Amino acid sequence: MDIKITLTKEPKVIPPDSELGFGKYFSDHMFVMDYEAGKGWMNARIVPFGNITLHPASTVLHYGSEIFEGLKAYRRADGGVQLFRPMENIRRMNRSAERMCLPEIDENEALDILEQFVKLEERWVPKSFGSSLYLRPYMFGNDESLGVHTVNHATFMIIASPSGSYYKEGINPVKIMIESEDVRTVRGGTGYAKCGGNYAASNRAGERANKKGYSQVLWLDGVERKYIEEVGAMNVMFKVNGEIITPELTGSILPGITRKSCIEVLKKLGYKVSERLFSIDELKEALQNGTLEEAWGCGTAAVVSPIGKLMYEDVEYEVNGGKIGEVTQKLYDILTGIQWGTREDEFGWIHKLS
Ligand SMILES: *Cc1c(COP(=O)(O)O)cnc(C)c1O
Repeated sequence: MDIKITLTKEPKVIPPDSELGFGKYFSDHMFVMDYEAGKGWMNARIVPFGNITLHPASTVLHYGSEIFEGLKAYRRADGGVQLFRPMENIRRMNRSAERMCLPEIDENEALDILEQFVKLEERWVPKSFGSSLYLRPYMFGNDESLGVHTVNHATFMIIASPSGSYYKEGINPVKIMIESEDVRTVRGGTGYAKCGGNYAASNRAGERANKKGYSQVLWLDGVERKYIEEVGAMNVMFKVNGEIITPELTGSILPGITRKSCIEVLKKLGYKVSERLFSIDELKEALQNGTLEEAWGCGTAAVVSPIGKLMYEDVEYEVNGGKIGEVTQKLYDILTGIQWGTREDEFGWIHKLS
């Protein structure tokens, strides 16, 4: 892949790891590429990070044609840099693109772009365990017309944001509110696509939960408000009576790469893992009779996030005494060990860049 590179004349000073937080700082450059129907992708370029201009009628501003991905570049103790299952993100991006009528990108070319971009920005990958360079590939429809149709012009970009450890103050279990009014998506909708619109639609419930002192909501399915789907922007898992249960991918759930990796790790460790429908009634019963042993969210940002309290119908239930459970901790140790390279990668998930 031929990428035209224009280097910045003013390289930035990288903040110390302790100040990074999430998504606040951006690296020196960004990747940009344009698409036109009939011609394909063109003008692949890396340019200094900065504002972009859009036509006021640009499709994304009116009709929400936008998808994104999220993955991290990790610094090993030996100084090398690596990615975690990047092809999974690229394939998911193409599935999201298909759903939103945006153009797909050849997966090997997309990987090549990602590799070249991260190598150029390598000094931005922080060094401390738990910190990383968060990579945000995204694509949007960019026709300069208000006509409603599938897009003829699109833009693909990648930006990078050095991010601090999600668990600077240790792994604290979160309080989650079960949402029985708003829904995130429905089957047949865009739930399995990583698109900005899903987030816009879920903000209201998230804000209501925050006001009541809960950090995120647990979503129920949009048809019957009966089956558990996800927690905030993470997939969710439960351990009930020794069985690990996670909602099956019905089309309205985002197929997380962390979810997939957790399932593979757990199966290797010999746990019984069920991907199936899990109803709120079944969860409520497990909370009431004490068979709910652990609950956690999983996603790239946090890896795993233990759930300490669950609120449903004005009753607050405690999970595992409000502490992180044994399986959650094990998953955290194994996945972070592989990602930051302190543990052997027996699954072949690591993609080394240096
Ligand atoms: C990105 C995302 C996840 C987690 O996916 P990972 O690939 O594990 O990071 C879960 N749910 C939603 C809604 C998401 O957008």
